[in-house]
Parts: sequence; structure tokens; C-alpha cells
Amino acid sequence: MSRFWNKLVATLDPYVPGEQPRLQNLLKLNTNEHPYGPSPKVLAAIAAQTNDSLRLYPDPTALVLRQAIAKRCGLTPEHVFVGNGSDEVLGHVFHALLKQEAPVWFPDITYSFYPVYCGLYQIKFRAIPLDEHFKIAVKDYLPGAATETARGADVLVGTSVSASASVAARAGGIIFPNPNAPTGRANPLTDVEQIVEANPDIVVVVDEAYVDFGAQTAATLIEKYPNLLVVRTLSKSHSLAGLRVGYALGHPELIQGLDRVKNSFNSYPLDNLALAGATAAIEDEEYFETTRNAVIHSREALTVGLQNLGFEVLPSAANFVFARHPDHKGADLAAGLRAKNIIVRHFNKPRISDFLRITIGTDAQCAQLLSACRELVTH
Ligand code: PMP
Repeated sequence: MSRFWNKLVATLDPYVPGEQPRLQNLLKLNTNEHPYGPSPKVLAAIAAQTNDSLRLYPDPTALVLRQAIAKRCGLTPEHVFVGNGSDEVLGHVFHALLKQEAPVWFPDITYSFYPVYCGLYQIKFRAIPLDEHFKIAVKDYLPGAATETARGADVLVGTSVSASASVAARAGGIIFPNPNAPTGRANPLTDVEQIVEANPDIVVVVDEAYVDFGAQTAATLIEKYPNLLVVRTLSKSHSLAGLRVGYALGHPELIQGLDRVKNSFNSYPLDNLALAGATAAIEDEEYFETTRNAVIHSREALTVGLQNLGFEVLPSAANFVFARHPDHKGADLAAGLRAKNIIVRHFNKPRISDFLRITIGTDAQCAQLLSACRELVTH
């Protein structure tokens, strides 16, 4: 706390990213990074950058990368916005599109950065409970479906109001990940389309950070629905968490709105190395397919292995599993694994405090995790 902070800064409750310890012999399964490195073509494209790549400013419109993404998705560059990781893209999305009079709706158990953006940009939000199977229930996102009794109060971070709990439920925007995080559960495209179609007057954002590991993308619906925005990242399925590249796909008018905010903040969020590496990653479809299929395969084997040890594992369409054991507390298991030099993510939050979120590693890493879990649950 400092007397030089403004009032808003004092109210912020910043996002806490998973730890990034640089310890030898640590098995790091806590932040959903890809176990295989990026395509060799990415490394070559970055290495091929010249003196001028650093001497000159990058292209503020990131046109070449946007063209590559558009081609891959069957859209035009006017449908594509890029940013410094999807976290930055999401920040602009909250600022430019989800900050409205009515609260933004998102699941109660979801990516914990969403309420943080709401705090920063002073956006009211309403947390919609997942159903008893930890799934997003479509009916809860249809206009008029949610009542104040079912949904609880709206929240405006930094105030004590239950803003409009008694007002008829109306969303100013909707955002959810598909697959959801940290549950890993995916909704079928028909569910997503129902939500988008039923809410034509507000923006519906689908955060597809993990979509490549087993869910259906909503990018195919973009030309049909001007209120749909899909946000993606190269951090997970393209193994480029360290390069910081994310993007959004949507109607050109939505993209223009994001551009206005971005160009009022930072003209060059992606440097020349990131632009070159990301373009090469998008273009190397063969490497992408092989490595993401390997992760999916390992996930299925790990799921069975955990189930054999008595864990309940939610069906995952992501590069992680969300699992709990009936006889052991999540915090104890996380601490036990840490003592064995394995870190996983544990959220000390209502409804999910007994779960562990475990990133899928190589088969050898999954085997190491399983043997550590076996020791913990059988002693
Ligand atoms: N969305 C979801 C659901 C995530 O889990 C993450 C990763 N923490 C992100 C977005 C952001 O990823 P990045 O900024 O690396 O693109």
C-alpha cells in the first residue's frame, strides 16, 4: 500500500499465475504447457531474423501473421486480431466489448483471470454456477432463464454492492472457455451456437485456449453470427507459452473495436521474433497435428491410470485433467506430490478444493506422476 496509488489500484485483486520455479529435476505439471517443444520451423524462423528485425519497429498491423491465421481458419485478415498472449487479447475484449451497463456473465468455476479484468476495468459480473457435473448448462445462458434467486448477486469489485440482484437478469456480455478451465469439460458446438443465437444483442466470447485437444471450435460460426468472438492462443497446442501470442476471430466490426483499444494502449504488442515464430507455427500443420495427438493419447492413458487408483477424473477435452480422490484432500495430495518434486495446480476455492489440475506431460512424465500418486493414495 502506498499513498501514491490511486483508489482503483488499492482495490485490485491481481491474477496469480502458476509458479514457474527453475529447479532441476522438477516435474512441472502446473501451468498446462505443452510437453514437446515448438516446431523446429519456429526456431528456424526466429533464428532467421536479421539485424533489422530488432533495429526496426515491427508491423503494427501484424499482417503476415493475421493472413496465416485467416488462411488456416478459412477467414480473412479482417476477421483476425492478435495480441501478446490471449491474456492481453482477453483484457482488450473485456475493455472494448464486455464492459456494458449490464453485468458480464461467466461460470462460477472458470478461468480466474475473468474477475480480475472486471476489477481492473470496473465491469460488473455475475458468476453462473456450473451444474452438479461441473458442466456449463446452456439453459442458464439463455435470456430470461437466469433469475436473481438462482444466480446470486452481481459483483462490482471494490464495492460492497450486490449491484442489481433484484433486477431481472440481463447480461451485458457472456464469456466462457470451451473446453472450460480448470475442469477440462467441453460443451458441443450445438450448445455454443444455442447461446450465441439466443443472445444476438450482446457479444458472446468463447475462449478456446484448449480447443485443439478435443473440443469443436466455434470459428466455423463466425460468418453466421456477428456477435460471436473466438479467442485462441499459441501457448498450449503450439507449445509457445514463452513467445506470448494469442488471437481473436470475429466479425470485422468486433475486430475494429479491439484494434481501437489496442491502438490506444500499445501499437506493437508483438515483436518481430514473435511474429516470425508464430507465423511459422501456424503454417506447420503437420507438426501441430502430431504433437497434439500425442498429448491426447497420453491424456487418455493418464485418465485410466488415475481411475485405477480410485481417482474421479472429469472427462477432459484439454491438455490437463481435473481429478479428485474420495479419501484424500486435494491440498494434501498437492503437498505430497510437491514433496516428491512434482508440482500440479490446486485451487483453494469452494466446490473444487479437493481437485488437482494436472497438466499432461510425456508418457514418461505421466508414469512418474502415477507412481507418485500411487504411493500417496496407498499409504
Ligand atoms: N484462457 C484460458 C482458459 C487459460 O487457461 C489461459 C492460460 N492461463 C489463457 C486464456 C491465457 O493464455 P495465454 O495468455 O498464454 O495465451
